[in-house]
Amino acid sequence: PRSVAAVPIRQLPDTLINQIAAGEVIERPASVVKELVENALDAGARRIDIDLEEGGVRLIRIRDDGGGIPPDELPLAIQRHATSKIASLDDLEGVATLGFRGEALPSIASVSRFALTSRRNGNDHAATLEVDGGRIGAVMPKPHPQGTTVEVRDLFFNVPARRKFLKAERTELGHIEEWLRQLALARPDVELRVSHNGKPSRRWKGEGDLLSEVRLHEALGEEFARNVLRIEHEGAGLRLHGWIAQPAYNRASADQQYLYVNGRAVRDRSISHAIKQAYSDVLFHGRQPAYVLFLELDPRRVDVNVHPAKHEVRFRDARLIHDFVYRTLQDALAGTRAGNVTGVAA
Ligand code: ADP
Ligand code: MG
Repeated sequence: PRSVAAVPIRQLPDTLINQIAAGEVIERPASVVKELVENALDAGARRIDIDLEEGGVRLIRIRDDGGGIPPDELPLAIQRHATSKIASLDDLEGVATLGFRGEALPSIASVSRFALTSRRNGNDHAATLEVDGGRIGAVMPKPHPQGTTVEVRDLFFNVPARRKFLKAERTELGHIEEWLRQLALARPDVELRVSHNGKPSRRWKGEGDLLSEVRLHEALGEEFARNVLRIEHEGAGLRLHGWIAQPAYNRASADQQYLYVNGRAVRDRSISHAIKQAYSDVLFHGRQPAYVLFLELDPRRVDVNVHPAKHEVRFRDARLIHDFVYRTLQDALAGTRAGNVTGVAA
């Protein structure tokens, strides 16, 4: 058998490095939408237009009215580990933006036909930069209003192994819609317009800073909106707010469980456990609660740099947070305990 040591060590080319990184963060069109919309939000966008074709596989075009990128920084934006969001370890530890790894654009650009067009706030001129499966073009002038448009065509056209795993158009669109719902709940202040195959498919009107019952209703349905308890509790430097469903409204699966930590949608075992525990006396076994909860705390008390896709976080004082969530929800649910027991079985 051939010895592994017989092959010399080589530095991988940039495009391949980016494609490897893309494997971690870009799983499907919904991951592209997530990364690009997060960039738009980090840039202070008030309105984001999302145009999709064929479930995002053929086209994802995201346009925002945020701060934009000056022409000479366009090549940097698609460089790996290039970011405007942090500059030091100290920044990382207190990071409040959704992005900070400087990986999304180079990753996406290495597995698609990609174009980044932008006009910086206050600049007279806009410019564009195209990347075709990792081959980088020249920065060219191109008209564009203030803000940024990122166009991603033919996702994974050069990575057949990935392309093979893409599902039917409806399924991919479903993943995108679910992610946008998650986002719409967290950012009611931002207007989102979605079109699919040339037809407007969804519009989330910008509504001010607080999540309104209207958006809640739109996102999770009337049934949920009619059965919610408002949560608002502060203590020990923690704030938990949002809505939880009365026990009478419960689900067969965990499909209506939205948890945000400092505005970022996350999954967290310990907090999920705390919530389940709080519901344990009022829900029948096997039924799932529904909730939209926001936990706010000093960014220094939570590490968001746990996984490239940032779905998970690590708390400095996980036990304290667990108990805080548990007690807040238990108190809120205490009032529902009597009388609702028959409704639970529904
Ligand atoms: P990160 O978000 O982790 O910084 P990205 O690869 O997603 O890394 O983006 C790289 C950089 O490009 C960002 O730090 C930001 O400066 C710039 N950028 C990307 N998208 C936008 C946008 N929509 N508006 C303004 N700047 C953007
Ligand atoms: Mg980003």
